Amino acid sequence: NSADVDAASFGEQHITKGIGRLTKHVFEDAKGTFITTDKGVKLLDLTSGIGVVNLGHCHPKVSEAAAKQCSKITHAQVNIGFSAVQIALIKELLPILPHPSLDTVFFWNSGAEAVEAAVKLARAATKKPNVIVMQGSYHGRTNATASMTRSKTIYGESHGPLMPGVFTTAFPYYSQFGLPADTPTEELVRQSLLQFKLTLQQQTAPSDTAAVIIEPVIGEGGYVPAPPEFLHGLRKICDEHGILLIADEVQSGFGRTGKMFFIEESGVKPDILIFAKGIANGFPLSGIASTKALMDLQKPGSMGGTYAGNAVACAAAKAVIQVFQEENILDNVAARSKQLFGFLEDLKANSPAGSLIEDIRGSGLMVGVQFADRPTDAGSSNTAATKAGSQPQIAPKVVQECLKRDMLLLSTSIFDVLRFIPPLTITEQELEQACGIFKESLEAVAK
Ligand code: PMP
Repeated sequence: NSADVDAASFGEQHITKGIGRLTKHVFEDAKGTFITTDKGVKLLDLTSGIGVVNLGHCHPKVSEAAAKQCSKITHAQVNIGFSAVQIALIKELLPILPHPSLDTVFFWNSGAEAVEAAVKLARAATKKPNVIVMQGSYHGRTNATASMTRSKTIYGESHGPLMPGVFTTAFPYYSQFGLPADTPTEELVRQSLLQFKLTLQQQTAPSDTAAVIIEPVIGEGGYVPAPPEFLHGLRKICDEHGILLIADEVQSGFGRTGKMFFIEESGVKPDILIFAKGIANGFPLSGIASTKALMDLQKPGSMGGTYAGNAVACAAAKAVIQVFQEENILDNVAARSKQLFGFLEDLKANSPAGSLIEDIRGSGLMVGVQFADRPTDAGSSNTAATKAGSQPQIAPKVVQECLKRDMLLLSTSIFDVLRFIPPLTITEQELEQACGIFKESLEAVAK
């Protein structure tokens, strides 16, 4: 009788092994910063479901808006007519986008679908075939987006042939160049822009290149904010060659970095902005924004889909934007970010376990901790890790220690980086609790 089988065992039996899973917990309820399992375990969630529930799990105003929409209209098919709730959402969304020229949108369901929509638009608008992606990038697991992902080979492995016409350039990140953590930013920017120019000389000619796509804070690739000078440099080279600049803010958008979108900080205008995850706090909604001039180059009928901008998800998203304003969410991001950076820097400087930390970086509540055990020219593990007597790959061990203490924390796809990505509504006390658990976990690993 399947009703008697433990839910996790049933899941293991009947859900594809192709889904990698951090834990065997069965999530049943969640509120704010906590998730409760079917066994009654209360977990402190520092993942926000990978940057999705930015307003905390089941924010009452978002849930209420979605519930109300459920008894109004749930499916307003965009290839058949306009959706009233989608239009109401667009009115709230346009003013918070990073540039007034981004005045035309298209909604989809997932981040990967939105990335594909951006590539379709770039190709249709420029009539050029190729795209350039960043080393370390993550754009999704569909065929086209797996082709564009450069954080880990598993996303494309054994799923080929992948989409052709994708070329790779460097993201300004010291460990990507095998350089020390204190390498000056100007040097990293100089090297990366040089690599970009070489990409256009050696891999894909400007006349064949539709777009370059960048995560303004690289996500799965290690939580590294792109320096503003790099974004300005890319913009300039793109303008010289008629190449579009696409910002994938699927993970860094919707308040995550302390601004609604990280690219605002640099003042650089992307030609296409991609958003998803945080926009609807857990309901499937994604999309792209661009200029009317570019968007209208697409032939009627070429875009759309059954659930493109689903009505319930749009109602949730509209409530999300209102909550950002009503509850001063960005003020909390600034305060909690200061608290988290303060804690991590103190830990790094003043405790033996903290000496395992090589680099702390990020913006707002998108914070990465790089441990020292990464591949270098000299070999595998470095001095700090060796001194502490630990094995390579500290991050996954810290994640496991946090789990033992009922806290969910994620690593990233690249070597030995942990990411802090809590709900933006996390309280001072909850973050203090999380920091305490992190410290204990790191100490357990350093032993
Ligand atoms: N782009 C970025 C930057 C992401 O972080 C992700 C998801 N982690 C995606 C695209 C893909 O989004 P989805 O999983 O919703 O397809």
